[in-house]
Amino acid sequence: MHSIEKLIIFTTEINIKSKVMKKRAVVTGAGGFIAGHLARRLKDMGYDVRAVDKKPLNEWYQVHDDCDNLVLDLNVKENCYTAVNGYNEVFNLAADMGGMGFIENNKAECMLSVLINTHMLMAARDLGVTRFFYSSSACVYNDEKQTDPNNPGLKESDAYPAMAEDGYGWEKLFSERMCRHFMEDYGLVTRVARYHNVYGEFGTYDGGREKAPAAMCRKIIDGELNGKDEIVIWGDGKQTRSFMYIDDCIEGTLKIMYSDIEEPINLGSDEMVSINRLVDIVEDIAGYKLKRIYDLDAPKGVRGRNSDNTLIKKYIDWAPSYPLVDGMKKTFDWIRGEMISAKESK
Ligand code: NAD
Repeated sequence: MHSIEKLIIFTTEINIKSKVMKKRAVVTGAGGFIAGHLARRLKDMGYDVRAVDKKPLNEWYQVHDDCDNLVLDLNVKENCYTAVNGYNEVFNLAADMGGMGFIENNKAECMLSVLINTHMLMAARDLGVTRFFYSSSACVYNDEKQTDPNNPGLKESDAYPAMAEDGYGWEKLFSERMCRHFMEDYGLVTRVARYHNVYGEFGTYDGGREKAPAAMCRKIIDGELNGKDEIVIWGDGKQTRSFMYIDDCIEGTLKIMYSDIEEPINLGSDEMVSINRLVDIVEDIAGYKLKRIYDLDAPKGVRGRNSDNTLIKKYIDWAPSYPLVDGMKKTFDWIRGEMISAKESK
């Protein structure tokens, strides 16, 4: 072989190696809440990041100009191949989702997200992706294990025998299993986190897809700004949940992605509170109290839900720990700022 040919092969190998060494991650759902934060964090860690969402760019909650931002509907198989091409890691967070009001009334739409995960897994398998993260949910847990408001915490094994949240939860459970079988049958390294309620800045706080922490902030700020004296609470307010601040969610997502944990694992706070207590916290932050009206016919979900963090602590010696009061203060301030700007621009 001529020395020039040897040189070309040598430089090509170096190029390939440096491409492989440089982390190149695709983040789907990046126009939404959690993946928008994740894309920022990965970029700050030195990754090349491709951010993908189906929403037009001007509707993304955060647009990071230093990412490769693509608008693609990932229900469509070809679009998933376009999204993954040239990248070696995937964080698949895109899903049609929302709070209880949305998932109880849009079961088919929630289940259609199965197309996203199916096509993203196929693209990852065919295009040589080395690691694939999937964001599952506490909604996979058996309803019957969540009838007690003093829920001691859902263990990972409580997902079976399966009786997930109808629609959204079943889709998540099915997609979890697909991740598992793509790993077993095709050798694609997959990691699955079961997120419990996540809240924080740049999250949805109105429009029907918002979850309890953001909804409570919005309702109380609306009361304060517009002189209202009542707040409507879905259910009797005694149902319990735990809420994870976004920084813990991003930290945990990265830890799980690069761990050896091959089974779906809880990623959630274990600081369980009732919805009434959540309202107390927001009212204290706002310095504004409202008369509580309980809408017993509204969607309210399971009676009690908490995260059991025994397994995550055992595997990676870490669990979410951001205090609810502190995270809610940051979230409240951000939502208040957004609502004041919106009011002023009217
Ligand atoms: P989000 O609604 O803010 O973001 C999801 C994004 O996915 C949206 O921007 C949406 O446009 C995009 N998307 C939906 N369908 C798409 C498609 N076909 N192609 C491309 N993009 C599409 O939601 P989030 O709170 O950031 O949640 C992110 C992930 O975490 C989701 O998979 C969700 O199920 C999961 N999760 C979230 C929570 C939570 O409390 N936020 C709890 C459990 C699980």
